[in-house]
Amino acid sequence: MAYVQGLRCRECGREYEVAPVFTCEWCFGPLEVSYDYDAIRGAVSREKIAAGPLTMWRYADLLPSDRNPAVDLGAGFTPLVRADRLAAELGLGELWVKNDTVNPTNSFKDRVTSVALAKALEFGFKVAACASTGNLANAVAAHAAHAGLKSFVFIPADLEQGKVVTTAVYGGNVVAIDGNYDAVNRLCAELAGTYPWAFVNVNVRTFYAEGSRTLAFETAEQLGWEAPDHVVVPIASGSLLTKIRKGFDELAEVGLLDEPPAVRVSGAQAEGCSPVARAWLDQSDTIKPVKPSTIAKSLSIGNPADGYFALDAVRETGGGLAAVSDEEIVDAMVLLARTEGIFAETAGGVTIATLKRLAEEGVIRPDERVVAYVTGHGLKTLDAVVDRGHPTAVIAPTLDAFHEAFPPDRFEQ
Ligand SMILES: [Zn+2]
Repeated sequence: MAYVQGLRCRECGREYEVAPVFTCEWCFGPLEVSYDYDAIRGAVSREKIAAGPLTMWRYADLLPSDRNPAVDLGAGFTPLVRADRLAAELGLGELWVKNDTVNPTNSFKDRVTSVALAKALEFGFKVAACASTGNLANAVAAHAAHAGLKSFVFIPADLEQGKVVTTAVYGGNVVAIDGNYDAVNRLCAELAGTYPWAFVNVNVRTFYAEGSRTLAFETAEQLGWEAPDHVVVPIASGSLLTKIRKGFDELAEVGLLDEPPAVRVSGAQAEGCSPVARAWLDQSDTIKPVKPSTIAKSLSIGNPADGYFALDAVRETGGGLAAVSDEEIVDAMVLLARTEGIFAETAGGVTIATLKRLAEEGVIRPDERVVAYVTGHGLKTLDAVVDRGHPTAVIAPTLDAFHEAFPPDRFEQ
């Protein structure tokens, strides 16, 4: 926190004091935290980070708030899993899966929530709130409970039961809105102007978004302080993708990477909600809002706030984008589980299906070191794979019945 200089508009560059504000008064562009990288370079080292907590807060020098134990549930520093069996099936070489399903509420949203609510407490807020497609709802409700804050979580009414139950259980207020995420988000923007609450992804969004950079920091540290050649990141608002890219660049800026990385960044969307991939495929600069219709509900943002920045990042780094069907998403969830023992939610299916597609198209190459970001756990979206999850056999509790189902001469003993 000592290293935050202020806030800066990403469009016009106008500067602001640190405050719970998120858009430029001048041009309505989004605000971003600016850091004193020279001071950070003097303060950080690989050794200092290695001696830090085994959570995302080991990178506190690069974050816009200090760790607050009242909020911290231990998010981050999740496994980077070498995925040789998946790589072999996809015809790729060195492939890694960043397994963010094992966070406290089983998605990467714990990272952004941890930063946002630590900052919200610094600002003196008493109520935590958010607009959510599900995962953020879980994270905000849980972190608010841990911190003893009241919470108001706003979700679309058609959300998966797994995400409603795993939010409501924390005891805050869960408000289901008769409308899609974009409608929920609009209502929350109005509420944020009326109530003195910390809407983590509205009025505290500037700080919240910074938490996603820890995914890049961890990846580089876990690769022995090297950057990957190519990353695949799911796109909802587009913030995660742009922040992961920024995170790698910052590591070189503060001397934690030896040379400026050249990470190619590819984005993953579901066909039923693919405004960014659509613009890419149409070679257009205009991101046309869509009405989402896909099983990947955590990515169902039809009017992505950072869509243009995500598209730009993909173009600048020479990555690619794909829009994958619901069937490809389910197939990819099963593929990842079968080859690597990682059960991802539908958004993870979107990432792996995109990885597969871009590998087939030659955009992702076998000579590249690739990292795929799997951001949420499969238990959150069981409905999507319920048809693929039957017992291999149902038998009587006898040896004979087992032998009949699995003849000894046909199965290894
Ligand atoms: Zn501006």
